[in-house]
Amino acid sequence: MTTEVVIVGGGIVGCMTAMELVERGIRVTIVERNAIASQTSGESSWAGGGIIFPLLPWSYSEEVNSLTRNASQSYQKICDRLFKETGIDCGFEQSGFLLLPEFDRSKASTWCDSNQVPYEETKASYFGVDSPNGQDSLFLPSVCQVRPPFFMQALRKWLEQNKVKMIEHTQLLPIKTTGHLNSWKSVNGEMFEADKFVVTSGAWSYELLKEVANKLQIKPMRGQILLYKPDRKLINHIVYRNGFYLIPRKDGFLLAGSTLEDVGFDPSVTEEVKAELALKAEAILPELKNSPILKHWCGLRPGTPENMPTISSHPHIDNLFLNTGHFRYGLTMAPASAKLICDLMTHQVPLINPESFTLKE
Ligand SMILES: Cc1cc2nc3c(=O)[nH]c(=O)nc-3n(C[C@H](O)[C@H](O)[C@H](O)COP(=O)(O)OP(=O)(O)OC[C@H]3O[C@@H](n4cnc5c(N)ncnc54)[C@H](O)[C@@H]3O)c2cc1C
Repeated sequence: MTTEVVIVGGGIVGCMTAMELVERGIRVTIVERNAIASQTSGESSWAGGGIIFPLLPWSYSEEVNSLTRNASQSYQKICDRLFKETGIDCGFEQSGFLLLPEFDRSKASTWCDSNQVPYEETKASYFGVDSPNGQDSLFLPSVCQVRPPFFMQALRKWLEQNKVKMIEHTQLLPIKTTGHLNSWKSVNGEMFEADKFVVTSGAWSYELLKEVANKLQIKPMRGQILLYKPDRKLINHIVYRNGFYLIPRKDGFLLAGSTLEDVGFDPSVTEEVKAELALKAEAILPELKNSPILKHWCGLRPGTPENMPTISSHPHIDNLFLNTGHFRYGLTMAPASAKLICDLMTHQVPLINPESFTLKE
């Protein structure tokens, strides 16, 4: 008999997990509170910038970097496949990453050397950007990006084509079970039965599981971001300075973000942040003063205290799995964390040692 899996949450982590399970011959249903591949009330995946690189990897653990590295290496292949099979271009491009000072030069170059990530010390002015204090910047040419809304649409279409059931506008209730989970109830009283369940509910994961996983530390961390379309292309590469980045898109749009705000489940944007982000953007590209801000949105990241996701079976509920807490690098890591959780669910040799991502009792 074919195994049936119910995935709770249809963001990038849920959709990539579904894709990986389908590849392993497993029947999948995704249950999503809102609509998959859309942005309604703070879902993080649609809202993200799409940099396929964990910003400053030298500040993350080796375990996190190992998964993001594995995932980054597979992105182009996934995007090519999605384009071939769905006709949707995910906006994948190798746009490079220019890191402006101040940053820890020695940590950055040591990390790049030991991870075979090419880099060059360079003047930011070569890239059309003012060089703060005249100090050299660091350019990492291999860093890539995708367009999260396009990537999500392509994934959604691929899942539809591959017979994944998508139950939308259906919110599941918190669970209290111990031992084995036979079914999961929705707010409207529907019961979803499956052999196995996977929680990929992003920032909302702890709310769903607090009765059965009180050690799971995930809370929403809001990120606001702005969209411009300057009259001419001002930069060709992602530019990063002190927690703030600019991402140029192929078609001339430019993103400026983002914030890291601990404000609970509040999916609203604020005028103060809009002004703050615009000032930071204009400090790097003064011409942006003449460009209107076309859009301003936010997403609620699944934040964790140690920047460590949970990719694990549940310690007591034998058919419950968690793939959540991807904080600032979920778009980057999703393909690899999907592989890892599916390895655990199907008793395969895990992609990497899962110990650091395991939910403790
Ligand atoms: C502004 C911003 C910029 C970012 N930029 C980048 C970047 O450049 N690169 C990068 O790698 N990462 C980036 N991130 C982080 C990345 O977006 C997240 O880590 C990732 O999207 C998390 O995916 P997810 O699927 O876990 O969460 P989500 O996308 O939030 O998906 C969780 C889903 O679960 C659903 N759900 C919740 N509760 C229930 C329930 N009870 N029943 C049913 N469904 C439920 C929600 O509706 C939601 O759709 C950024 C994030 C933000 C906000």
